[in-house]
Amino acid sequence: MPLVLVSSDAFERHLTPPGHPERPERAHVFDAVATAWRAGGGEVRAPRPATLEELGAVHDRDHIERIAGTAGRAAMLDPDTFTSPESYDLARLAAGATLVGVDHAMSGDGPALVLVRPPGHHAERDRAMGFCLFNNVAVAAAYARARGASRVAVVDVDVHHGNGTQQIFEDDQSVLYVSTHQFPCYPGTGAVTEVGFGAGRGRTVNVPIEPGAGDDDYADVLARVVVPILTAFAADLTILSVGYDAHVQDPLAQMQVTTDGYRAMLATLRATVDATSGGRLVVVTEGGYDLPALGACLDATVEVLAAPATTTPVTPQTPRVSGPGIRGREAAEAALAVQRPFWPSSI
Ligand SMILES: [Zn+2]
Repeated sequence: MPLVLVSSDAFERHLTPPGHPERPERAHVFDAVATAWRAGGGEVRAPRPATLEELGAVHDRDHIERIAGTAGRAAMLDPDTFTSPESYDLARLAAGATLVGVDHAMSGDGPALVLVRPPGHHAERDRAMGFCLFNNVAVAAAYARARGASRVAVVDVDVHHGNGTQQIFEDDQSVLYVSTHQFPCYPGTGAVTEVGFGAGRGRTVNVPIEPGAGDDDYADVLARVVVPILTAFAADLTILSVGYDAHVQDPLAQMQVTTDGYRAMLATLRATVDATSGGRLVVVTEGGYDLPALGACLDATVEVLAAPATTTPVTPQTPRVSGPGIRGREAAEAALAVQRPFWPSSI
């Protein structure tokens, strides 16, 4: 089950204003991870741009044209979200990179790790937002559906709620969206009561967590909520929106997750996907703004994804650090109280 990385040094050419946290140096961290993987004999694939049709599966034509209209210049799309002359092309490349990952994972040959910027999960059907131009994981999920996956799960562990991904699939029963996020925090969405609409009711799962949560809390939330729901949903493909901004060193939020905590989360999710989705897993980068923490967490992610597939039943990693993980328990219980009507009685 060989892991494939999808990466390009072109992503450093998406420029943001000085002092912006989503900065070109993040691409240098991606490059270092890809270079090390290649040096060890691993495969790194080049991305391709998403086509207009592939983008159009999740974005309105007006939105695509608005981003295309920024080609060749710098523009401010909202107070946080900027383009530079090549950003339109690079945003298409970031979205398309996820499709190279989906092709690999859907073939059953192993997981894919897609290293991209700009990130995507705040981009809604009709607007750029929160550093995001196109919604990379949403484009990937729609592409996987078009390729024949009946059910796609998107798990979002970025510290911020993925409002865009939720919005794009909120009435779609074939795409499960599960998010753990700091709450309250940007962008303000992701309350536990947001469960989707129409046929998609019960296919949006929000686990808002109080600021200050650490490894124990996240392990608890995964064990009580995320793993059981992923198991019940039994996706054909699982896409992980991995933001490393819940890290204790991250400047944008107040969570306390360590690099080992991220390693444990990835291991739990990998084992779950091995058990429920035949190992068909695509991991796509979102946030993560402390460069050393980003690099260390990506190294841990590669380590987890490169390990042989697990064949034993999932036993979520138990918290290593002493302490009750009260924030995690409370978050899990609140989410389960809202979600139980939509799932089998074992949840
Ligand atoms: Zn984030």
